[in-house]
Amino acid sequence: VTEPDHCIFCAIATRTGPAEVVEADDKAIAFLDIAPATRGHTLVIPRVHAADILDIDPDDLAHVAKMAQSIAKRMPSALGADGVNLLNSGGAVAWQTVFHFHMHVIPRYLNDPLRLPWTPGEPQFDHLAEVAELLR
Ligand code: AMP
Ligand code: ZN
Repeated sequence: VTEPDHCIFCAIATRTGPAEVVEADDKAIAFLDIAPATRGHTLVIPRVHAADILDIDPDDLAHVAKMAQSIAKRMPSALGADGVNLLNSGGAVAWQTVFHFHMHVIPRYLNDPLRLPWTPGEPQFDHLAEVAELLR
């Protein structure tokens, strides 16, 4: 896979760009988000460039998921976190702004101000079967 010339996360993966790295191995690297949602907000990326969830190699995805869990497990003792959100945005319409796949690992704290990104609505029993059929 060829790296795009101006990918900020490829620069971090090759250590030519600055980052507070918290874990790294041959396939993935985890570093702090520069504009954290909460204290300790971490991003985990594959070293090999992939734009998004559709593009990433499944083995790299599995590796990123395992590293995300490894970081999440440290958050209660290291930071006093009470919970964690894993989040990935795929595509601009889904709020993706950096087009090198990344998993957000966001530690959560009792009474922190974060809220769900959607407003839960009413159950839509009429439509579920139809949509499931499209996805099968
Ligand atoms: P997303 O909207 O899911 O694409 O998230 C991109 C995230 O990358 C945002 O939370 C940014 O704060 C973060 N970010 C952008 N540039 C950098 C950087 N150079 N180092 C660390 N985090 C970054
Ligand atoms: Zn990249």
